Amino acid sequence: MRLVLILAGFFLVIFLIKRTLARREQSSAKAHGSSQATNHHSAVNMVECRHCHVHLAQTEALQRGNDFYCCADHLHLHHPPRST
Ligand SMILES: [Zn+2]
Repeated sequence: MRLVLILAGFFLVIFLIKRTLARREQSSAKAHGSSQATNHHSAVNMVECRHCHVHLAQTEALQRGNDFYCCADHLHLHHPPRST
């Protein structure tokens, strides 16, 4: 019975070491990924809403000609959806 307990403890130690190593790899991979994401985010072109002058990413802005808007409401204030 004592041998079983020793074996169980032995495997438990191996399991804990493996888990620690796996976590270390995951955390380093995460840090690497986040740094890449940060670089990608800084590469996003920032534009200004013509109406309220809030800054937002060009990919999230609504463009009409050379002007950018933060939302459809502000776009419609300068470009009414119905011209009639
Ligand atoms: Zn706006």
